[in-house]
Amino acid sequence: MAEQTRFGTAGVPPTFRLLKAKMHDVPSLLREAGLDAFEYQAVRWGAQSQITQKDAEKLGDEAKKHDIHLSMHGSYFINLAGKDDVVAASKERLIAGAIAADWMGAHVLVFHTGFYGKLEKSYAFKTCLNALKEVNQTINDMNLKVKLGPETMGRKFQVGSIDEIMTICQEIENTQLVVDWGHLHARNLGAFKKVDDVRAVAEKIESTLGSKVLQSMHCHFSKIEFSSQGERKHHPLDEPRYGPEFELLAKVLVDFKMHPTIICETPLLDIDALKMKKMLQQELEGKASVNPQQKLVF
Ligand SMILES: [Zn+2]
Repeated sequence: MAEQTRFGTAGVPPTFRLLKAKMHDVPSLLREAGLDAFEYQAVRWGAQSQITQKDAEKLGDEAKKHDIHLSMHGSYFINLAGKDDVVAASKERLIAGAIAADWMGAHVLVFHTGFYGKLEKSYAFKTCLNALKEVNQTINDMNLKVKLGPETMGRKFQVGSIDEIMTICQEIENTQLVVDWGHLHARNLGAFKKVDDVRAVAEKIESTLGSKVLQSMHCHFSKIEFSSQGERKHHPLDEPRYGPEFELLAKVLVDFKMHPTIICETPLLDIDALKMKKMLQQELEGKASVNPQQKLVF
């Protein structure tokens, strides 16, 4: 089967909570809604998993049954550029996430790398890289299947420019490129105004990491409000005051024949994920009518 673009939610949509859905009910509910990905939120975890192996496996089984692509968002309490004890605790949190991600069969453990703090930026980054090499080694030694997914970050004081994330992906094996387009927009103070702005990032990724990495990236998308320091708040797709517009990304996805997993991080989760799916479909159909010979896969 050809690779396809998938859409899903960052955590359980509020409407599912109203149905009193259990975690293992989420895959079938997402499938019913027309979605095919789910990012489990382990964002408040410490050094211990807060899901049992049994529950994680049950979620994984249901995800497989309903063909829902699972990912996990790791703890927010990670700073690989911090003091030694902070880095040690951060590594433990990443590994706890990786273990649980492996239980549920999540493909990628998305995480925020760290903060520059008072360190010189390149030194802070080097510290992160060294810590990640050790985490990756532990993950390999434990024979865990999940990939590490460093994410592009929205605030200027966070490690996570597109260049830094690409360098991590080059230097460390078993990584999955994670591009949060809203974050990049905010970090660069409204960078994505036209299609060419998004295209430039795609071209940069393609020339640095290759077409395959570009085409199979893991994405987060939300409209985003920012200040001079970058990201401030996520907003729904219909919010006209903020960008970026999903249509810009949709055009680039079609042009570069990309088939990412796109996790919706707007406050409307499933509703906006479906909206994005529809926009991409329209973009594909528009392209098809211009060039009927082109074989489209969706
Ligand atoms: Zn994140």
